Amino acid sequence: MILITGAGGYIGSHVNKLMFEEGYQTIALDNLLNGHEDLIKWGKFVLGDLKDIKLLNFVFKKYDIDTVVHLAALTSVNESVQFPAKYYKNNFQYTLNLLNIMEKFNVGKFIFSSTASVYGEPDSIPISEKHPLKPVNPYGKSKLMVENLLSERSKNSDFNYVCLRYFNACGADLSAEIGENHDPETHLIPIALNVALNKLEKITIYGGDYPTPDGTCIRDYIHVHDIATAHLKGLEFLDENKSDVFNLGIGRGFSVKEIIKSCREVTGYEIPTVVENRREGDPAILIADNKKAKKNLKWKAEINDINSMIKTAYNYQKKL
Ligand code: UDP
Repeated sequence: MILITGAGGYIGSHVNKLMFEEGYQTIALDNLLNGHEDLIKWGKFVLGDLKDIKLLNFVFKKYDIDTVVHLAALTSVNESVQFPAKYYKNNFQYTLNLLNIMEKFNVGKFIFSSTASVYGEPDSIPISEKHPLKPVNPYGKSKLMVENLLSERSKNSDFNYVCLRYFNACGADLSAEIGENHDPETHLIPIALNVALNKLEKITIYGGDYPTPDGTCIRDYIHVHDIATAHLKGLEFLDENKSDVFNLGIGRGFSVKEIIKSCREVTGYEIPTVVENRREGDPAILIADNKKAKKNLKWKAEINDINSMIKTAYNYQKKL
């Protein structure tokens, strides 16, 4: 069985759904702090926290777990700057709890949700996995600490891991059954769509003076379905007793203005904008070099068109 931590979250719920549909037996573990119970419709659901060692013991004793897919984490860069200890505790210390319990029960396969934030301000674009790791905030640092631990842990042992460094996840399940629902929402696409849906008056563009063609930040947006399929490929990779780290992006960038333009095209609504100061810690351009994932993980993004990605997000936002 596969234990999926954070299965009530945006990406976790898509991973849980896909794995379940592919015939895997899943156990969804979530404390519902940021996750949503109504996103957990597949497999078994355990309400709980990774700080609860007793609960972890119970779960590993009760279920025949062979693989852990670990998505549970705090993910706000801003909050991590304000409360660094909270991030090291939740993202590093609680992962250590999980790895310890896995060791105790001889569970040796691990898929980890990492992030492009481990690269910090990039020296070159596109960013390959060989790029230096210089995270600039506690969120990225806490994820890198786990990556380092996984690398040490896998040496001379039968423990194997796949680390997936997500770029900008976007979109929603094609059936609009599950999707992105953060509180508060800070992400570009759902905010722009909520302006189109009249739930917000306007969207603030954080910085119009970046060294990019239109002055706004460029990001690599990857559809959440494609992130989920990479986890499936991760399971196959682990079956070959290998460990590795992969970027997950489509290898193409869109500026904030281009994304808002796409949101206008998809929704047919005017989306008023206002340009304000840069947000702290936002690099100008983040684009993945995804060759390694294509070659070694045998993964390929299926949804490459930005309007198609945004359309799925819109269908879900309309339902909320
Ligand atoms: N952004 C923006 N206005 C918003 C939210 C985001 O201009 O209300 C910009 C942000 O500065 C970044 C890009 O959109 O350049 C993507 O931000 P998001 O928060 O969606 O993802 P992140 O890149 O921070 O993971």
